[in-house]
Amino acid sequence: MSADPIALARELLRCPSVTPAEGGALALLGKVLAGAGFAVHRVTFSEPGAADVDNLYARIGGAGPHLAFAGHTDVVPPGDEARWRHAPFAGEIADGMLFGRGAVDMKGAIACALAAVLDHLAANGGRPRGSISFAITGDEEGIAVNGTVKLMKWAAARGERFDHCILGEPTNPKRLGDMVKIGRRGSLNATLVVAGTEGHVAYPALADNPVRRIVAIMSAVMAEPLDNGSDHFDPSNLEFTSVDVGNPTINVIPPEARARFNIRYNDRHTKASLKALVEARAATAAQGGRFRIDWEPSNADVFLTLPGAFVDLVCGAIAETTGRAPELSTSGGTSDARFIKDYCPVVEFGLVNATMHKTDEQVATADLALLTAIYRRILDRYFA
Ligand SMILES: [Zn+2]
Repeated sequence: MSADPIALARELLRCPSVTPAEGGALALLGKVLAGAGFAVHRVTFSEPGAADVDNLYARIGGAGPHLAFAGHTDVVPPGDEARWRHAPFAGEIADGMLFGRGAVDMKGAIACALAAVLDHLAANGGRPRGSISFAITGDEEGIAVNGTVKLMKWAAARGERFDHCILGEPTNPKRLGDMVKIGRRGSLNATLVVAGTEGHVAYPALADNPVRRIVAIMSAVMAEPLDNGSDHFDPSNLEFTSVDVGNPTINVIPPEARARFNIRYNDRHTKASLKALVEARAATAAQGGRFRIDWEPSNADVFLTLPGAFVDLVCGAIAETTGRAPELSTSGGTSDARFIKDYCPVVEFGLVNATMHKTDEQVATADLALLTAIYRRILDRYFA
């Protein structure tokens, strides 16, 4: 069984696993893990209106402590393949770089975790002093309804208990060791709908222009920060992304105006507190005029894994291997860690994210070796 992360990464990159296609990636992982003595489960989840998606859960060991590696083998589409220097599903290496869709996000990191675990097991008689598992989904880059959220629920229902989890998303801006993510902001989408009364633009007194009111409400909602940030988070932010009236004529006051917005929020807020705050600001600005806010359902809650022994262990392993003390960050978009945080503390550390979702996505083969060494050190310390 090969414990070479570069060879494993190349094999994974050759699986065309654009969401929701499995592409052979989970089968490959399952084969390697089963060969190492893991009990491997392939589970397919369904949801009305969404494609079925394959997931994998594999565990070795029956006792605690239980460390899980989480991740996804699905990838975003490669776009125009002709624009790639090396074909996106060929796993080619040139000048020390491994090219391919998913190289950093995040098949490369899965290959590193797998290689580190195989090495750790080989050095310890084939069994961990506790349990190691892999929770790998094929539904992260899409709408993420048939992936980690259901896989964790499924595992919990069969009695799986996790002590800690490492999610190998690409967290480093420039160099391996730059950044560990210990939390993520929550995300909430909504549409502001302002009703008015249509009429002739020359007779505004006979109409009720919703454009005036939506401008006032938008200004009021944006005028003050939602909070001033917290110990581990930047201030929450509300950003309008679209204003829509759809009026083809210049001399008609329209009957309705809409504006869409997104809020990225920190641990000073909940969805309920944000809704109350924004609704109150809007109501004041509307001065009795008609409006409503349609809030979309969201499964992207804010979370924070408080710094402590586990975060210290991970950061210590990174510092010892790379010579860099990683920043503890909660920046960026949401991740599947939001679905894991309800089961155990989770931190994210993976490869360099500079080329994720881009043409010519690539990872330095040296980084694959280095990340494997970091994961290996984490395992050795965790099961010491
Ligand atoms: Zn990812």
